[in-house]
Amino acid sequence: QKDNLMTTCYINGKYKPLGKSTVSVTDRGYQFSDGVYEVIAVFKNEFVDFKLHLNRLFVSLKKMDMKINLNKNQIESIIKKIKKINQLEMGIVYIQITRGDQNPREHKYSNNLKPNIVIYSIIKNFEYLNKLAQKGVKTSLYPDVRWQRSDIKSISLLGNVLAANHAKKNKSHEAVLFDNKNMITEGNSSSIWIIKKNKCITHPLNFRILKGCTRHKLISILKKNKFKFEEKKFSITSLLNADEAFMTSATNFIMPIVKVDKYTISNGKPGLNTLKFRNLFINAI
Ligand code: PLP
Repeated sequence: QKDNLMTTCYINGKYKPLGKSTVSVTDRGYQFSDGVYEVIAVFKNEFVDFKLHLNRLFVSLKKMDMKINLNKNQIESIIKKIKKINQLEMGIVYIQITRGDQNPREHKYSNNLKPNIVIYSIIKNFEYLNKLAQKGVKTSLYPDVRWQRSDIKSISLLGNVLAANHAKKNKSHEAVLFDNKNMITEGNSSSIWIIKKNKCITHPLNFRILKGCTRHKLISILKKNKFKFEEKKFSITSLLNADEAFMTSATNFIMPIVKVDKYTISNGKPGLNTLKFRNLFINAI
């Protein structure tokens, strides 16, 4: 596969090497992080939850009051074309849409801006994650210092970046965020779940978390398999005392959590239900 800078990138109607794909300094994404993004995994040459991600992209655009001159079908064709040109068999397609260039710089946005649309792909090794899932991962707690509209998949990711870096410093796979009442919201880039007494629990959908596509897919798997689940807030203490814990995301699928900082979850091994759900998820894709 090609070196990443040579990867083909769609940028505002053109297909260019990623290394030669640029936007202006006056782009509102660069100036204000005024934009949205989406990540779609490709696993064994197939897109994972394609429609869920495509729909969420348009939901994010709507919530940001952004209009683009391409419809869902057109975006879908570009994503598929990028996968094909780059011969992507395992990895992600990344989509970023910013509100466009505005000069002079001003917080208030003009209504006649032309959004900058960028779509490219990145090779990722999901086999490595598969191996990791057999052992489970360590996570680290971090306060949820993000803005209050985490339901929008916006490129304003500073809180997530700080949390992820805290996790990295602590040799953790992911940061688990908690609010000012010590309740878990989500991961720095995942949804967080616990299992207690054979019931799956995850934070309810509201402004404080992203509506994860993997979360959505897992809920339908749970329903199909008649496994109890509830969308309700749970505390740090509940996480530490859970029978099983795991995270879900487009790239991790369903990843067992076996440690939270110095605390071990249950017996320190991936939960049996968690591994079962992971297999069901992989079979479903
Ligand atoms: N929450 C946040 C903050 C995320 O960034 C992500 C994914 O990147 C998720 C949850 C999980 O969403 P999905 O399952 O759609 O990847």
